[in-house]
Amino acid sequence: MSIKLRTSLWFTLMVLLLSVMILVFVLLINGASITGDPTERLVKVVTHNVEDAEFDNGKFDWDDLKLYKNGVSCVVYNKSGEYLKGAHIQGIEFSDYPLKDGLVRKIEISGKNYLMYDVYVNMEISGIWIRGVVAESWVSGLIDTILILTCILLPCILVLAFGGGWLISWGAFRPMNKILAAADSISGGGDLSARINLKRGSSEMRRLSRSFDNMFSRLEKSFEAERQFTSDASHELRTPITVILAQCDRAKRKDKSPEDFINSINIIQEQAQGMSELVQGLLGITRLQHGTDRYKLKKADLSQFCLACAGEFVPEDPRGIKLTCNVENGIEAKFNPALMQRLIINLLQNGYKYGKENGNLILSLEKDGDKIQLSVKDDGIGIMPEDLNKIWQRFWQEDPSRNDRGSSGLGLAMVKEIVEFHGGTVRVESRRGEGSEFIITL
Ligand code: ADP
Repeated sequence: MSIKLRTSLWFTLMVLLLSVMILVFVLLINGASITGDPTERLVKVVTHNVEDAEFDNGKFDWDDLKLYKNGVSCVVYNKSGEYLKGAHIQGIEFSDYPLKDGLVRKIEISGKNYLMYDVYVNMEISGIWIRGVVAESWVSGLIDTILILTCILLPCILVLAFGGGWLISWGAFRPMNKILAAADSISGGGDLSARINLKRGSSEMRRLSRSFDNMFSRLEKSFEAERQFTSDASHELRTPITVILAQCDRAKRKDKSPEDFINSINIIQEQAQGMSELVQGLLGITRLQHGTDRYKLKKADLSQFCLACAGEFVPEDPRGIKLTCNVENGIEAKFNPALMQRLIINLLQNGYKYGKENGNLILSLEKDGDKIQLSVKDDGIGIMPEDLNKIWQRFWQEDPSRNDRGSSGLGLAMVKEIVEFHGGTVRVESRRGEGSEFIITL
């Protein structure tokens, strides 16, 4: 059974229950007038009135008479049978019936049975007749009305309750179809770009749709990361694998000297080492980009940290390049030390790699308001203007034949990811032949 149907049925049941309770309540309050033996009620009410009837100062005192009680209507006539006072039952005139003392009679008016009871009250000077009339059926006028109302109104109210409940839940659950359609298109057709993007609907549904959309975005990102990793890795590993296989074939040839053999082993080892570094680097970037690894940020002295990184850094091939640190003291920042160290080292490494012999490399850190600027400047080969945008791409190298250790074309892509992870920006200013400056703003 759908939630819509269940909710609507529940509403309807509650309304029905409430109506029945009200009906029972009304019946209980008016119980005496509606139920109970009509003859008994008739005699009782008339007898009470007989006892209460008084003749005071030459006049009848009506005040104590109960002319309508418990469904019994009473009429008072004088001694000669003329109407003095009294109630009518639903406008029916009972005066036409002859007065008969102490007799409970059954009469029929317009197909309905009534009981009639007359008593003559003898008083000092004169006397009066008190006539009581009651409907014989237990269904009195009041209950008639209640039942008629119940029979007409209750079905209407129930239909309204069911219809209203159905409409409300239908409206509330309509966005669910959009959510389901998006989920189906993702799981069925693999369309990871599908979004629910719910603009209208209840706030709960909009929250749900937002959560789903966020989840879909994360899924899309991680699928995309996996796809990119697989394609990058298979593309980049193709060359070293070809080299390794070729070296293996070479080494297996019988006419090779031990030196040739050792040479092949060295080449294989170098290529395997390069492959291992490439896979590590690629994994690092992918994880950082898609948040698979959780890196914690902590507040620390970035000035001290930069100086420590520069001090510990040992370039593979310094070529007489002089490293200078222009670091403003006491700059605090929130950063991840492992990632920040990687960033600084990548930039310094590039500075040495692409710097000119006996050149200069400057690491600077300064604070401007709430912005921190970290830069690495060299006076090396510089970058061609048309390549300035390409250097951040994975595996892009101006000179792809460069396959010395640590040159995989991943360094700057990693730098960019680390900067973005820290909520900063990175840019490069470079002139061919004059040098480059990498500026990071945090
Ligand atoms: P890798 O240095 O491993 O080749 P990077 O991602 O660090 O990869 O750099 C990508 C390319 O950008 C380099 O191959 C080089 O052509 C260029 N590049 C990076 N840093 C500098 C620099 N300081 N001076 C000149 N060119 C640079």
